[in-house]
Amino acid sequence: MEPNYSKYSTPELEQTLQSIDQSAFPERTAEIKQELSSRQTEVKSDSAAKNEAFEANEQFYRCPNCEVKIGLFSKTANKWGKVKNCPDCGEPFTTTIKFKVFILAFFPMFIIHLFLLKPIVLALGLNKSISIGIMCGIITVLSMRFKRVNVGAGT
Ligand SMILES: [Zn+2]
Repeated sequence: MEPNYSKYSTPELEQTLQSIDQSAFPERTAEIKQELSSRQTEVKSDSAAKNEAFEANEQFYRCPNCEVKIGLFSKTANKWGKVKNCPDCGEPFTTTIKFKVFILAFFPMFIIHLFLLKPIVLALGLNKSISIGIMCGIITVLSMRFKRVNVGAGT
């Protein structure tokens, strides 16, 4: 009769693996090894889950806590300081710049700047640096996210 290794404790399995005649029972040896390695990944994913228990819940102009829309030009979004408070639920959140989005948005925005914004700005007789300013502003707006404050950070 085949022993059910899934019912063994991990130290019991390790002991069995050491004492088993591996050449006489290659299938059992493989089973024990597999059971042990599956337990190792379980432990790993368990601790990984703990690390990821805090979810920043990054939102595009929404409260990361209650997901109520927070307008780009709203008082809250333009409030000075790193930590802002949601006008709806009162929970704090911070702003972050998504670097990847920033890079991705840069090239199309640069094209728009070159062929659309710059000619308009020049046609209006304004300084072309205004066009660059508008471009940078739009990229920043696009790459900005609101995220939860990690209260447990640093503990
Ligand atoms: Zn909220």
